[in-house]
Amino acid sequence: MRKKIVAGNWKMNLNYDEAILLADSVSNLVKENQKTNVILAPPSVYLNEIAILIRDNPMISVAAQNCSDKISGAFTGEISAAMLSSIDVSHVIIGHSERRKYFNESNSLLAEKIRVVLENNLLPIYCCGETIEERNSKKHFEIIAEQIKTGLFHLDDSKMKTCTIAYEPVWAIGTGVNATAEQAQEMHLYIRNLIKEKYGAETAKEISILYGGSVTSQNASELFSCPDVDGGLVGGASLKAEEFFSIIQTMEKRISS
Ligand code: PEP
Repeated sequence: MRKKIVAGNWKMNLNYDEAILLADSVSNLVKENQKTNVILAPPSVYLNEIAILIRDNPMISVAAQNCSDKISGAFTGEISAAMLSSIDVSHVIIGHSERRKYFNESNSLLAEKIRVVLENNLLPIYCCGETIEERNSKKHFEIIAEQIKTGLFHLDDSKMKTCTIAYEPVWAIGTGVNATAEQAQEMHLYIRNLIKEKYGAETAKEISILYGGSVTSQNASELFSCPDVDGGLVGGASLKAEEFFSIIQTMEKRISS
């Protein structure tokens, strides 16, 4: 069965003390016998310390929020996949809509990032999502298909199987307006069918597709009940340990039901 995942994207929030406290609190709440895979994506400056802090908890992994498409060299301010790989980081979020919007990251640049992430034995969480204008003009399926095909379909089957996808409609991120369960399921199934067409049913079945966009402990149950929603990429609600844990518990209940 494919992995069920709840990932917290802390974005550019929290000072050092707050970040360590949050990681520690989540780590104390998440027990070893849990089945949900929990991923924390803190700001890069805290990655190493948080990776060390959660090292003994097998159910929690650490993700970077981004990395460079370059290998190494004169790229001031950038962080390479090899650097992330040299500490206990396992995942990298690639193509978050904020990276696409504020840093002009194109699908072809993201394809390069996916390549370097995998070459460094890290696991990508590849984000896709349409704007409200694209949805209103009924272009959302086309936009997602382009993001998935250009970003990921250069991979061979074995590499593709190591990817996690996060469907995050841009209009739902940080707005308090989540996609309905029907909208999420419809798009997740569409993405799974794209993978099936290219790589076959077995690969499509193995890839976890997370929903992101205003997930809270209030709406997680409905969203996670969708057959093709394998968990959540959570922003704002991941900044409070109890709230984040409550979302994790919602996934635990779904797994055991
Ligand atoms: C995100 O940052 O990926 C996200 C989904 O944010 P929020 O949960 O705050 O909408």
